[in-house]
Amino acid sequence: MSRDQRVRHNWALLFARHKAALMQTPLVVVFTLAPSFLGAPLRHYDFMLKGLQEAETDLRSLSIPLLLLQGEPTEELPRFATAINAGIIVTDYSPLHISRRWKNTIAEQLTIPLYEVDAHNIVPCWLASGKLEYSARTIRPKINALLGDFLTPFPELEPLPTTPREPLVEWESVRQKLHANPGVPPVEWLTPGEKAAADCLNSFIQQKLSGYAVQRNDPNANAISNLSPYLHFGHISAQFIATKVMASHAPEEDRKAFLEELIVRRELSDNFCTYNDHYDSYEGIPNWAKETLTQHSGDKREYLYTAEEFERSATHEPLWNAAQHELVQSGKIHGYMRMYWAKKILEWSRTPMEAFDIAIALNDRYALDGREPNGYAGVAWSIGGVHDRPWFEREVYGKIRYMNANGCARKFDVQRYIKRWML
Ligand SMILES: Cc1cc2nc3c(=O)[nH]c(=O)nc-3n(C[C@H](O)[C@H](O)[C@H](O)COP(=O)(O)OP(=O)(O)OC[C@H]3O[C@@H](n4cnc5c(N)ncnc54)[C@H](O)[C@@H]3O)c2cc1C
Repeated sequence: MSRDQRVRHNWALLFARHKAALMQTPLVVVFTLAPSFLGAPLRHYDFMLKGLQEAETDLRSLSIPLLLLQGEPTEELPRFATAINAGIIVTDYSPLHISRRWKNTIAEQLTIPLYEVDAHNIVPCWLASGKLEYSARTIRPKINALLGDFLTPFPELEPLPTTPREPLVEWESVRQKLHANPGVPPVEWLTPGEKAAADCLNSFIQQKLSGYAVQRNDPNANAISNLSPYLHFGHISAQFIATKVMASHAPEEDRKAFLEELIVRRELSDNFCTYNDHYDSYEGIPNWAKETLTQHSGDKREYLYTAEEFERSATHEPLWNAAQHELVQSGKIHGYMRMYWAKKILEWSRTPMEAFDIAIALNDRYALDGREPNGYAGVAWSIGGVHDRPWFEREVYGKIRYMNANGCARKFDVQRYIKRWML
């Protein structure tokens, strides 16, 4: 268990359970806690460990043990597989470099089969498309053509025919040993884990889904789902969310708008990271964007900030500073402000390369849903025109789509947003 840290609605776990039944062998769920994952701070480890602890309890009630290995996955997992004389290993799917490197190195050491199941996307990433897609427009018909085949009901996870055991993880001591950077504290407003994720989905459907299409771009409206941290850690299945939303009584335009984000945009991000080796750097943006940004590299920047000034919310503009405060305090920025936030980093940095690195570093450090394809695609869209098209040419941005504070003011009460986050 790696990217999809949940017991229910998990195709990787269901497949492993199915194989265990066929082979008449026990099933053990293993999570390897690496000493560092792309510099994740305490905020992320805390959220993740609480979710894993809940999964461990739930699995134990099905007589399926969850073990936590600690150390480098490439060493610990093969060692463990040998020690228990494992018959097969099943893992979930992530397109990130670090996960792919781990899996390839592990696979090279194994003499038993290693299965990879995409439990994150509704249409498995490699089936949705075998190539890098240009935009939502090009991947949408491919996903829609296969959606019916994959939106099938989830079977129940059958318990193992053994008696439940004592817990095999000492959670408290794991927490104490954690070397994660304590500089970014956990958030209090969002409870981790599968149960909290299901509650979050239910209240979204009951209270916010009707009106989502119009209200989602208003950062003051509390109209979005806040499901992204749960999706990121795999505490909830996107397929399960989609079926619940489809079956809801919300107006069609709202269901459609939400499903476009949840399915098409989210799965497009996995496509981007799967087929673009440079998904997390300026290198990975399209040629037209590189050309136009290069042509405008000499343009005078009216304001210039360093990474450290951005991090401290020390720009001249209260609106941008408020978005940065939202990120630092809550571990998330509203989706509309996230675009604005990244575009201003482009406008106020020395080079587009530097802007790219600053946006990714801040997003990965503070956002609970960071370090994932949506974040890399989001930054690449905002700063590098990925999945977008050329717009009217202007200073600094070249043909990259522009946003400004006046545009925000036309959409929502900017002062209210600033007041909320600058306290
Ligand atoms: C610069 C930038 C950085 C971003 N960083 C991240 C990130 O680190 N992690 C992350 O999950 N998303 C990221 N996004 C995409 C989007 O802003 C978030 O998914 C969304 O704000 C999450 O809040 P929500 O779950 O309440 O959204 P809702 O509006 O309720 O959407 C539901 C789900 O749909 C998906 N979704 C929504 N918008 C997008 C989008 N534009 N692209 C892909 N999927 C989408 C997400 O899985 C989201 O949880 C980023 C966007 C930008 C422009």
